[in-house]
Amino acid sequence: MYEECIALLEERGVTVDDIVDCVVFLQKQYVKNIEEINIHEIVESVIRKREVQHALMTGINIDIQVDKGAFGSETIQQIIGTDEGLYGIDEVLAYGICNLYGSIALTNYGYIDKVKPGIIGTLNDHDAGQCNTFIDDIVGAIAAAAASKLAHSQAVK
Ligand code: MG
Repeated sequence: MYEECIALLEERGVTVDDIVDCVVFLQKQYVKNIEEINIHEIVESVIRKREVQHALMTGINIDIQVDKGAFGSETIQQIIGTDEGLYGIDEVLAYGICNLYGSIALTNYGYIDKVKPGIIGTLNDHDAGQCNTFIDDIVGAIAAAAASKLAHSQAVK
């Protein structure tokens, strides 16, 4: 299922390296030797987790179905398709990922969702003509979860 998740991300314009960049953005100020750490491996370990894979596949497939106009309800099709400000279910799904990695993941998710660095900003601009309502939050949550894992790995023994 890991390969399927990576393919799904790539199909929608996101690489693991894009997520690594977000993790570096979140943690570079706290981790002195960040360039010596294999962050790619940490991001990969997050995406290998079953609950993360379920959230990722659910969220990205909702975006894809919206692109196809497949939702029976015109109302929900429009709400998700326009990423309406008061629709927060994309964030709620992303919390499901953060909750697995503790409070540092949750606070980093809130921060990255506000600042929108790198790929998250690109996804949020909706320039590719595709629905990115769920994927931006999924990517932000994976980056925040990896940042939390990295922070905990640095803890004083
Ligand atoms: Mg969103």
